Amino acid sequence: MRKIDIASLTIEELKDLMKSLGEKGFRGEQIFQWIHEKKIRNIDDMTNIPKKLREKLKNICEINTLTIEQKYVSKIDKTTKYLFALKDNNIIESVLMYYDYGNTVCISSQVGCKMGCAFCASTLGGLVRNLTVSEMTGQIYKIKEDSKEKISNIVIMGSGEPLDNLDNILSFIDIINSPKGENIGQRHITISTCGLIDKIYFLANKKLQITLAVSLHASNDEIRKKIMPIANKYSMEELFKACHYYIEKTNRRITFEYALINNVNDKKEYAHELGKKLKGMLCHVNLIPINQIKESNLKESESKTIKDFFNILKSYGISTTIRRKLGSDIDAACGQLRRRYLEKK
Ligand code: SAH
Repeated sequence: MRKIDIASLTIEELKDLMKSLGEKGFRGEQIFQWIHEKKIRNIDDMTNIPKKLREKLKNICEINTLTIEQKYVSKIDKTTKYLFALKDNNIIESVLMYYDYGNTVCISSQVGCKMGCAFCASTLGGLVRNLTVSEMTGQIYKIKEDSKEKISNIVIMGSGEPLDNLDNILSFIDIINSPKGENIGQRHITISTCGLIDKIYFLANKKLQITLAVSLHASNDEIRKKIMPIANKYSMEELFKACHYYIEKTNRRITFEYALINNVNDKKEYAHELGKKLKGMLCHVNLIPINQIKESNLKESESKTIKDFFNILKSYGISTTIRRKLGSDIDAACGQLRRRYLEKK
């Protein structure tokens, strides 16, 4: 029989598990605290759990963890990239970034990705599988333990499409947000999606206080289709409709990510087109100088072009920033490091 990974269960699920074993619900809470607050890895370390129950748990449960396979520290800005090995030997990557407003960990949500964006290294080998909940919390716990740093923000912007693994993402948020665990506020958690519309509606109805980031990367469908296959399924009009619904339900500002690619999506007329579409919307635009990957011939826009694009969006009254490049000496863009590692093997 496959053992239950108790590190993937929310407090409520742990309570239910305890009750199903004929135990009191509060044992579930105690177990949760051992795993997510005290970060123990062995059931025997749960010293306030009676020995008999621990024996029972050891027979049917396990606490899944991941191991650090490799680690790279940027000499430029201390950004640290981790390659983790999962129990089934799959490899994933996460990044620790130091910002003025707090240390941020970028985690992966899937092994690989099936979305096929033209500029992205994560998708080149396709989707292998979804990450479990504990494989997502584990990225944060391991980085915290290894770096001895306080982690204040989480962005789910690593490899994978989080809304394609939404059940696990919701449990992940529940756990990482819990005052009995890491206690990271929802407002300090960002989920980035390429725009799975039905899932945006579903998420909106959950009324969470997380930040939703939508990868737009184009000002019209024609350009978007060239670089993002998902644009063939959903139009930008449908996407914006879903975003408006999300804002209405949650009262939260949406972030639009726009990776500027030389001669593809960076013309001034596109900035105007986008400015007109976003004017008046509760949103923020994050312009990202694209990280070139060797598997694609898409190139980074020139810095003057980026500045112009920025100024035009500003002229429409749109809150806009240009993302600072971090860890450029350590292949820190989405999926690059894992790919390099797998190539070497
Ligand atoms: N699948 C989700 C989250 C993972 S990608 C999404 O599409 O949003 C996180 C962000 O990194 C997305 O905005 C994605 O488009 C961007 N990205 C991927 N590869 C990149 C690259 N080479 N350079 C710049 N941004 C990239």
